Amino acid sequence: MRRSFTFLLRPTSKQAASLAACLEDHRALYNAALEHRRTAYAKAGVSVRYGDQSAELKHIRADDLDGQGRWSFSSQQATLRRLDAAFRAFFARVKAGRTPGFPRFKGRGRFDTVTWPKDGDGCRWDSQPGHPTAAYVRLQGVGHVRVHRHRPVRGRVKTIAVKREGSRWYVILSCDDVPAEPLPATGAVAGIDMGVASLITTSDGEHIGNPRHLAASADRLANAQRDLARKKRGSERRRKAVARVAALHAKVRRQRLDYAHKAALALVRGHDVIVHEDLRIANMTRSASGTLEAPGRNVAAKSGLNRSILDAGWGVFLTVLAHKAESAGRELIAVNPADTSRTCAECGHVAKENRLTRAVFRCTACGHAAHADVNAAINTLRAGLALREAAQAA
Ligand SMILES: [Zn+2]
Repeated sequence: MRRSFTFLLRPTSKQAASLAACLEDHRALYNAALEHRRTAYAKAGVSVRYGDQSAELKHIRADDLDGQGRWSFSSQQATLRRLDAAFRAFFARVKAGRTPGFPRFKGRGRFDTVTWPKDGDGCRWDSQPGHPTAAYVRLQGVGHVRVHRHRPVRGRVKTIAVKREGSRWYVILSCDDVPAEPLPATGAVAGIDMGVASLITTSDGEHIGNPRHLAASADRLANAQRDLARKKRGSERRRKAVARVAALHAKVRRQRLDYAHKAALALVRGHDVIVHEDLRIANMTRSASGTLEAPGRNVAAKSGLNRSILDAGWGVFLTVLAHKAESAGRELIAVNPADTSRTCAECGHVAKENRLTRAVFRCTACGHAAHADVNAAINTLRAGLALREAAQAA
């Protein structure tokens, strides 16, 4: 299995300056290579290839020993390949008869990642097993940077990337041959409902993950964005407002991932089979109807931003859940969520009047009352188990 691990870096101030210079030089290289391709194409109708640009690198480095010459040849090649990929995508869209935008120059803040394509080549993941709390990554031109390794790395480190997010730096390891760690069977199955009051509710009636912190961050982010819109371009205040918005975005991303990991871990530990609603279908239904089904109107209606942050939260959760389920040898089933929230789990009666409020379900036919999310989760579980049975019979 392939997996990636992201850790916070703890550079010294000198190292942080080097990281910033490294990123800036890679951005400059990207833009220079883009300029080269554009001019060659505009002036002579010649398309420059990755191989040509990679061959140029040697000279660029030799002529700029204190600048581009400081960094890893391979990470620079990776940057040129990134540009090449942008051009390939561009030409593919042209060929498909569309009119895509030409690959763009990367402004400050639009280029945040440097990748070293091979561990040991201009970089070294250096985990020092003797000191479980101290880990370092060595980066050419930067030095040994301390890593906050909050969980163990498994598998073989293949590529190493460094990413800037606001004022923080992260290292991202992409690992091959990550061993699966099957968990013992529990004999338990669960359906889950994804909502707003709880990130997920299980068919056993468990509520996992309270996204209220996420909603609070979303509110702060909305305020910060309004604040930013009022600032004059080029002003110092605007620069600060931009930084604040970026920091809040980063915070929301971290919170989302944190929720996702915790909730997915709890589910995967406790169940052999997990059934969830197919989010793509769910989102289509929600946007089409925009009715009672939209969970948490009181939260979501306040701002579309809030809504989209929670939507993204479920997407991230399902991605994390899929990885964990695969690693643990658990079965994951996606079902069409149509009617799961309107159907009575007791007698099967379907009516939108069954759902009294966001939280309360009461069947108009048999009187069965339940937490609306639990009722939906039970229906989801049933639909999943029926699918599974049909698949096994086929
Ligand atoms: Zn009923």
